[in-house]
Amino acid sequence: MPPIDTATIDRLRAIGREFHGRGWSLGTSSNYSVVVGRAPLELLITVSGKDKSALAPEDFVRVDAAGRPCDGSGRKSSAETLLHCTIAELLPGVGAILHTHSVAATLLSGADEASGAVRIAGYEMLKGLEGITTHDTVVEIPVLPNSQDMTALAVGLRPLLDGAAGRPRPHGFLLARHGLYTWGASLEEARRHVEILEFLFDVTLRARDVAPTAPPARRAAAMAAQAQQ
Ligand SMILES: [Zn+2]
Repeated sequence: MPPIDTATIDRLRAIGREFHGRGWSLGTSSNYSVVVGRAPLELLITVSGKDKSALAPEDFVRVDAAGRPCDGSGRKSSAETLLHCTIAELLPGVGAILHTHSVAATLLSGADEASGAVRIAGYEMLKGLEGITTHDTVVEIPVLPNSQDMTALAVGLRPLLDGAAGRPRPHGFLLARHGLYTWGASLEEARRHVEILEFLFDVTLRARDVAPTAPPARRAAAMAAQAQQ
């Protein structure tokens, strides 16, 4: 088993400090992983219950495709390890997976659980998501019911990511009233996706607060009509 590049661990620790500072990974919430082997699948993932603002070099553990620790360190991986393994298994191009617990993602995923997805449309920042080249688009981030049963969650996740029936694969997904999972070909791409999606969740939430029902064109028309009275 080749040693893990210390630069990767340092980068993951820096992401923990950054995400904690931005309110996306408070306390011991969140977990981060990188794919370190594909045949067989192996991930390096944060150890369970660690404060993300102060991750130490030893706060990571290697796990196999089933989420079992495989580096002999005796460390216990995050409770949500199986979700990381399922994402890495179903998305062969993925090199890193990041999970956050922001206020916006917690509120929005609760509000949109019944509809099954958070719909984000028309924002310039959508172009920060891989493969999106115009603001004039709609991105749906699926919302799954939350559970403490990771096996059940992983089973529910499969149809979202397996690409069957030509379904487009999402850039991430939300667990209701819990948080965001997103990923990228590299750790930097995954970090960017967290940053972009957290911005878009924040904007979407604030836009609903400003105008819970009326889209901008209708609001403008209503204001013009009022001015003429
Ligand atoms: Zn979580």
